[in-house]
Amino acid sequence: MTARPLVDMGELAPYAGPDRIAALHPEERALRVIWDDGRESRFHWTWLRDHCACPECRHPQTRERLFELRDLPLPIGPASAELEENGTLCLNWPARDSASAHQSRFDPGWLRWRAYDSASRSERVRPRQPWSVKTLGQVPEYSYERFKEAAEIQRAWIESLQQYGAVLLRGAPAQAGELERFASAVAPIHETHFGRIFDVQTKPDPNNAAYTSLALEPHVDLPNHPHPPDIQLLFCIANEADGGDSTLVDGLQVAESLRKDHPESFHVLTTQAIDFRFQDAKVDICHRVPLIELDSQGAVTGLRFNNWIRDSLDLPEDEVERYYSAYQQLWRALCHPDNQLGLRLAAGDILAFDNRRVLHGRTAFTANGRRHLQGCYLPRSMVESRLRLLERQGS
Ligand SMILES: [Zn+2]
Repeated sequence: MTARPLVDMGELAPYAGPDRIAALHPEERALRVIWDDGRESRFHWTWLRDHCACPECRHPQTRERLFELRDLPLPIGPASAELEENGTLCLNWPARDSASAHQSRFDPGWLRWRAYDSASRSERVRPRQPWSVKTLGQVPEYSYERFKEAAEIQRAWIESLQQYGAVLLRGAPAQAGELERFASAVAPIHETHFGRIFDVQTKPDPNNAAYTSLALEPHVDLPNHPHPPDIQLLFCIANEADGGDSTLVDGLQVAESLRKDHPESFHVLTTQAIDFRFQDAKVDICHRVPLIELDSQGAVTGLRFNNWIRDSLDLPEDEVERYYSAYQQLWRALCHPDNQLGLRLAAGDILAFDNRRVLHGRTAFTANGRRHLQGCYLPRSMVESRLRLLERQGS
């Protein structure tokens, strides 16, 4: 049974828990909280005042912040702090400068959930597990039937996608229309110039290597967009041709190895922007960006390796050869057998992968059997939203 919150903190996600505050140590700038399991968290007075969840400070209906610290002198000074009998933290803010006296009450479960000491912050990081063929073995897989019925399987499916960047569902009805139905139940489909749902099969007048029977080197889709699609779904309706096996490569693992073993190449690929471009009769879409993207902490957030639609190299003269050499180093690592996980999709399989992280490809196939895949893209934010809703329901 879920515990009842002590204080309405204006959250839809559950936060009530067994966490209890054992002791309070007010300091000049912050309140040091000792939890009954021994953890210590510091909460700055300014932070506590900013996060008051009373109806004056947080809108009871929209849950949005109403409190404004714009005109207050910072840092906000201490409140008198006490623990109520049921464990609620009560803070009384004295009238000060332009601010009037105010009372804030905090649910200890909420405070623990939102604590920003280093141990609490690292617990909140969703782990991404870089993998090679040897360490992953095979893509985690779940049954389509169980996915449909069980929220915990839906949750595990999204968590696997976050952790490994790839996950497989097996046993869906292998018919046109199923992918669109399935995908849009997970998140709104991200439509591109390839359409809402695209068919991967040989076409008479292809505008893309995927629409031929050629082997496909590992690549990500649409790196020529400022924001390439996040999650790709590939649905197998028929795979009766000789060849046409799928390959997946964890770009995160390859980028991290490059950072360690060839820091110079990693530096070039993360700092030197190049052009990507897709052009056909109807569109001409370009974007210039480094091939490996990092966040403000230096963590790899995505790769844009796609040799077909890398545009002509436009770099200062003395950068050109250095760039080619770094690019080749990355490419060779992506194609190394240790990194290329093979997978044969069967009718009814839905392969989901993180198009910003995991590269996909396939072996060549012959025209002796039917091969028909369908694909679409989903935005990460909405897939993660789905996960939070599942977590909110406690599944
Ligand atoms: Zn308030």
